Amino acid sequence: GQAQLQCDRAPTEVRELARTYNMMLERLAAAWEQQEQFVSNVSHELRTPLTIVYGYLQSVLRRETNLTTTQRDALETAASEADRTIRLLQDLLDLARADSGHLHFHMEAVPLNALIAEVAGMAQQYSNRDIIIEANDEIIVLADRHCLKQVLLNLIDNAVKYSDLSLPIALKIDQLEQARIQVCDRGVGIPLQQQARIFERFYRVDESRATSGYGLGLSIVKTLVDGMGGCITVASRLGEGSVFTITLPIAV
Ligand code: ADP
Repeated sequence: GQAQLQCDRAPTEVRELARTYNMMLERLAAAWEQQEQFVSNVSHELRTPLTIVYGYLQSVLRRETNLTTTQRDALETAASEADRTIRLLQDLLDLARADSGHLHFHMEAVPLNALIAEVAGMAQQYSNRDIIIEANDEIIVLADRHCLKQVLLNLIDNAVKYSDLSLPIALKIDQLEQARIQVCDRGVGIPLQQQARIFERFYRVDESRATSGYGLGLSIVKTLVDGMGGCITVASRLGEGSVFTITLPIAV
């Protein structure tokens, strides 16, 4: 709506042109909205049955003790593909919500030490990786607690995916003018030329890195961090590792 042309006092031809332009703009906006709604509905409709499928697979895997290796492998593959698709659908839902402006942040004073410890604990459990915390004084940021957790889990998820099993992942917090949270890994790294693009939707550095994913995680992370009034950057060297830095305002 805001981009509409106003040419009430212009010559007839210009007014006519403006009218056509405005009409096109309206149609485009409507089509865009329809498409967002479609993605959102489809994601939602698919996620529910897939979650049920995943649940059943997990329960069979847990309970059946006399499966052959082949059977177990097949069920595990099915479960992991279902899980991957559920995550994709959740990502699409999050993005659709962000696009339609339906992302609401509940901003509050969040003490970082406890939150970081909780996130590290969760990540350690499902990834089986050492997560080292480096923190000194208590820092209290202004953020949406749930959102910040999702952001950090997502970054740790990547750190786990893109680094060797034996290498630790570090979570550091400190305070300059703003609070700073860093997720550091000693993994494959990201080539300099591509660092600016990794926050784009569907952008993946190298398909041959052979990890599951659709290139949506970091675009969601950035949307969430920006939405909380923060900022996210990356520093990385190929073959040495990556550091993702989030800055957030201090709560006063
Ligand atoms: P996905 O991991 O699903 O491909 P993301 O949006 O999370 O999508 O990341 C985009 C790309 O950035 C990834 O494909 C990967 O190549 C690169 N990347 C992200 N995090 C890291 C990391 N910690 N180390 C190396 N590369 C990374």
